[in-house]
Amino acid sequence: MTFEYSHAFAQQLDDADPLRSFRNEFFFPAHEGKDVLYFTGNSLGLQPKGTRESVLSELEDWAKWGVEGHFHARRPWYSYHEILTETSAAIVGAKPSEVVVMNQLTVNLHLLLISFYRPEGKRKKILFEYKPFPSDHYAFESQARLHNFLPNEVLVEMQPRDSEWNLRTEDIVAKIHELGDELACVCFGGVNYFTGQYFDLSAITQASHQVGATCGFDLAHAAGNVPVKLHDWGVDFACWCSYKYLNSGPGGVAGAFVHERHHHNRELVRLAGWWGHNKETRFQMAPGFDPIPSAEAWQLSNAPILSMAAHKVALDLFKGAGIEALREKSEKLTSFLEFVIHEVSKLSDVQMEIITPTDPSARGCQLSIVVPGYDRSIVRKLAKNGIIVDWREPNVIRMAPVPLYNSYTDIISFGKIFQTIL
Ligand SMILES: *Cc1c(COP(=O)(O)O)cnc(C)c1O
Repeated sequence: MTFEYSHAFAQQLDDADPLRSFRNEFFFPAHEGKDVLYFTGNSLGLQPKGTRESVLSELEDWAKWGVEGHFHARRPWYSYHEILTETSAAIVGAKPSEVVVMNQLTVNLHLLLISFYRPEGKRKKILFEYKPFPSDHYAFESQARLHNFLPNEVLVEMQPRDSEWNLRTEDIVAKIHELGDELACVCFGGVNYFTGQYFDLSAITQASHQVGATCGFDLAHAAGNVPVKLHDWGVDFACWCSYKYLNSGPGGVAGAFVHERHHHNRELVRLAGWWGHNKETRFQMAPGFDPIPSAEAWQLSNAPILSMAAHKVALDLFKGAGIEALREKSEKLTSFLEFVIHEVSKLSDVQMEIITPTDPSARGCQLSIVVPGYDRSIVRKLAKNGIIVDWREPNVIRMAPVPLYNSYTDIISFGKIFQTIL
């Protein structure tokens, strides 16, 4: 579709947007009495208006019931995590038995690597993407040490071609085949946090399995942003956080996926806790771990209910909007932002470069923009004008127009202000 660089045009798109009412479900921070233009839902999603009520109701039940709330709360805490499973599974394209909501993201990454990074003989390497999120890198380093390797013996960071930012699928697949029987595990971000590139998870999984390696993904920037099909693609494991696109609050409870083909493998090594034990016999409190034959076997501890109460509200909004409808709007909204950046480039004579792939199927809603000749102070200037974006060294602005609560008007307003700042 052809776009126009005007408020009237953006307003038309908003009027025709079937998801426009979801914006009213969220609180926006204010700037000089008006809602900010919020483009950092990839970092911390906004608070749904229903969150307070949901958390308060658990506080009330705790006050009313004490320990008996485990079974008598309106939503009994004993099984609370189970009511989050179905919507979470839909978001990552999994069967409900393959998904569990628990812990935090990096914790889950470690728990899954314990099971799925099992170096043996010469098969000991981990392949991951160029510029992974630092926490993932630290996780890989420490997993290497856990197996008595030096990180540089086993860690392989996939490099892009000269003067390219993004990784080509054919190069990733070739690298996997090159490493062959030295490769124990492939673990990429689903969408890279820096460039916004959405990798071809299906091709990566298939190639990994061809050489006998396990394959998993950190979906921090993918869950709630792009449609994934973990089950159909045969992915071994995945994890994600809930506070970015999933709007479940700072440090919110995270998610994990384990493909069903691993559920009955009692030989799998894992760190176990009582919440992963057979529910029928859990309260016999006897030694001898009997894993639940589902992703729930990876649970260690009883559930953080207050955090889950926030997560529930946010997941219900996703369910209401529908993953497909969100993706459809997301592609259009992001293309509109791309168009606006190019217009601002032309009008301001600052040749900005978008390093995120131009192909909509190779990105989510984030665009990463290099603004030549500017430093971090540009982000502060934008903030003074009520625009929230983020900055990543050395020179990249990251912006995510998220389909649940951003509008086309947000984008045009950003463009007009940005143009005057440049
Ligand atoms: C946001 C993010 C993290 C953060 O990890 P936490 O354990 O939630 O603090 C880790 N990895 C990736 C890829 C991320 O995008």
